[in-house]
Amino acid sequence: MLSSLLRTIEQGFGPLLSSASDIAFLIGVLMLAYVILAPSIRIFVEMQAANVGISREWIMHCVSCRRMTVVSASECEYCGHKLNIPWPVRLRQAFSRGSEPHWLEVTRWIYTFLGIIAFTLITVVAFSLSGAWSPQSPLEKLFVGLSLLTWAGLGWLLGRVFGIGTGGPVSRLRDAVFSLALAALLLTTTTLASAARPVEETVIAQVRVDGQVAQLGSEAIALVGYQLGLEYVHVEHAFAGFRWVAPLAIVGARRLELPMDERQRRVTNFLWNHAGTLSERGLVVRKRTDQFMVRESGLYAIVLRGDEITIRQYANPS
Ligand SMILES: [Zn+2]
Repeated sequence: MLSSLLRTIEQGFGPLLSSASDIAFLIGVLMLAYVILAPSIRIFVEMQAANVGISREWIMHCVSCRRMTVVSASECEYCGHKLNIPWPVRLRQAFSRGSEPHWLEVTRWIYTFLGIIAFTLITVVAFSLSGAWSPQSPLEKLFVGLSLLTWAGLGWLLGRVFGIGTGGPVSRLRDAVFSLALAALLLTTTTLASAARPVEETVIAQVRVDGQVAQLGSEAIALVGYQLGLEYVHVEHAFAGFRWVAPLAIVGARRLELPMDERQRRVTNFLWNHAGTLSERGLVVRKRTDQFMVRESGLYAIVLRGDEITIRQYANPS
């Protein structure tokens, strides 16, 4: 139902949707590249700065000797005057990335780098397995673009939640809440993207109907009352929302088996032979025969479309 609704939206917007989806996809890819590249470049620059001896420190004016002192202890490093730093400021310094010992800096680089690699790997695997790199329709491309953008945002926020020196407990909590919201949004956009993907059609076989005779390959069967039966195995798991069909034969006065590759034949036979055991686990396996009216003579195609199987007449019989 969602798919047909999306199809209607797609037809309604037409070319406008096409350019919008291109832009959304481009922005998504760019943001993803930014989230991966920006921290990598930052680490690279920090490593170079550390190499020449630049370090980041908190400094302050000493009221006693009037020199700039590094705030590492509670006294001035020149005259030993007590600096009197209030405890909230000390707390902030502890959480924010100010003066950082070299070992912590190196740990942070490695930790951040591993995070970037993990994020990149998950991205590449998820998007190549789901086929999202090659959207089949403008609407799917739009939702893939929005998903990329959301995923990039989620990656950036997770970097802040789990990063070293990326903020105090309150800001981490805030970023964690935003992460959850983005995760929910990501689930929505990916669901919409997969619903917007056009279902692939496979023509299983062609049947030539001539009056009350149907011909499949070199064999022919007689039809009764212009009805052509289509027998198929129907597998369904109602709870998991799983459905699968495999066409078996066309049926008229007798049964004529459809061509099927060896692997599919084995799967189908296994399912049918274990139907009883499988049904105890909620997987219902049954054979069905649908009747189609083929009053007009001509060439018909047996079409598998997702988990639907149907017979369709060719527009111009050849
Ligand atoms: Zn001083």
